Amino acid sequence: MLPGDIPADAATAGHRAAGLDTVGLDTVSMDASGRSRAGLDTAGLDIADLIRAKVRDIADYPQPGIVFKDITPLLADGGALAAVVTALGAGYGQVDKVAGIEARGFILAASVACQLGSGFVPVRKEGKLPAPTYAQSYQLEYGTATIEVHQDAFAPGERVLIVDDVLATGGTAEAATGLVRRAGGEVVGIAVILELAFLGGRAKLSGLGVRSLLVV
Ligand code: AMP
Repeated sequence: MLPGDIPADAATAGHRAAGLDTVGLDTVSMDASGRSRAGLDTAGLDIADLIRAKVRDIADYPQPGIVFKDITPLLADGGALAAVVTALGAGYGQVDKVAGIEARGFILAASVACQLGSGFVPVRKEGKLPAPTYAQSYQLEYGTATIEVHQDAFAPGERVLIVDDVLATGGTAEAATGLVRRAGGEVVGIAVILELAFLGGRAKLSGLGVRSLLVV
């Protein structure tokens, strides 16, 4: 096994930590400690350690001074991916739609949606969605952006979990929350793999049930 590889039982441990019983898979048994962790804003240490091992820092990308958190090593590891997907989606009760933010959020949100038996809704960059949209502009850690969602993406009152890879300044998640609400959805939570606490994004999202699997 290479340094940084996840042992074969890590995914199972991750599943337990995330409270897989809430998603109705009967192949994984639950224990009391797993259930107690499922309700926390940050999941168990095993998930945090796994993310520390599998998300790498890329200095000065996409511009000087930014340390980019690259999740591709985590995505490439089947056990780590399964554990993270489970931890992101656990414990919300009924979730009708999982909304993923372009582009890395798509990968995670669609996986969470499959596991929860929910639908997936893409929150896309400006001009990419074909049907009528709601649009919201916001400030990024690097630059500005506009995201959109289809106006008919949600039935009124549908319970929506927003999923992305990284929470930085919080502008993207805040904009996505606004879009989901404008389109009629009820935001039940925002789940990310990694939160950059020094950028203070969580403050923009008070009361929205932010779950970060690792805070750095
Ligand atoms: P923010 O709106 O500042 O919270 O930025 C969050 C969005 O930008 C997410 O969709 C992330 O994928 C991306 N992002 C911001 N900062 C970083 C970073 N340092 N590393 C990787 N992705 C980032």
